[in-house]
Amino acid sequence: MDKILSAMAYDKKVRIYAAVSTDTVKKAILNHNLNLMSAMALGRLLTITAMMSYMSKSESIAVQISSEAPMKGLLAISDSKGKVKGYVVNNDYTTYGENITSLGQLLMPGKLMISRDFSLKEPYTGITSLVTGEIAEDVAKYYMDSEQTPTACALGTYFDDKGNLMAAGGYIIQVLPGTEEVILNELEQRVSLTTNISKLIYDLRTPENLLNFLFSDRKLEITKEESITFECSCSKDKILEKLLTIDKEQLNEVASQQSVIEAVCPYCNAHYHYDSKDILKIIR
Ligand SMILES: [Zn+2]
Repeated sequence: MDKILSAMAYDKKVRIYAAVSTDTVKKAILNHNLNLMSAMALGRLLTITAMMSYMSKSESIAVQISSEAPMKGLLAISDSKGKVKGYVVNNDYTTYGENITSLGQLLMPGKLMISRDFSLKEPYTGITSLVTGEIAEDVAKYYMDSEQTPTACALGTYFDDKGNLMAAGGYIIQVLPGTEEVILNELEQRVSLTTNISKLIYDLRTPENLLNFLFSDRKLEITKEESITFECSCSKDKILEKLLTIDKEQLNEVASQQSVIEAVCPYCNAHYHYDSKDILKIIR
């Protein structure tokens, strides 16, 4: 089961969140039929969005990357219970060039935007330029820029040589302002042990093991855990209501012609079909 663990160390000066999200990312790959690089990008973004939502206790959080580069961007939305969904804007860039080895090539230059509780009238929104396009570093910079919180973040997706996802997950470490230099240096050393985070998550399998790997010699206080799932709240009726607000004319036409239209949920790629009976039911 996919989950997030939160823990504290160094007399509560350091907060750590660790997640394993393999099944969640597998479902996203399957639903959206993602190619390898898109799977890597959305896998990382889904994982970090679930963690950020859990950390901030926001009702909902949306993390969006917008870019002019070939992938064009991606979006993930999570509630505080780890229900996360999302998509990449363009999953079809095979013709753009060869030798694509990093997400930066597909996302730079670009921007990272974070909106919280967007059911409110004025949701909190933060924005920062991407530093590398590899997502983990970009999120760390966001926390430094917008919340002045020193943050280390690592996100990984591990694939076998046939391109099947074998593991996904990551961690975030945040320190309280004013934490001693000696602790910061120690944390830096710990973080440097995880440069190959994708393989590490594959080897370690669980967030507990990831925490123990990072802080084996330290007393860790595990405070909470939450599950993560790829889940969308769309339904046939909800999508039709949305259609109604954008294209009433076309719906009327379909209703009169007795044809069928298809609508697709962008977040989970569910396909819904509506015949004249469905449409007349909601138009009237
Ligand atoms: Zn959906």
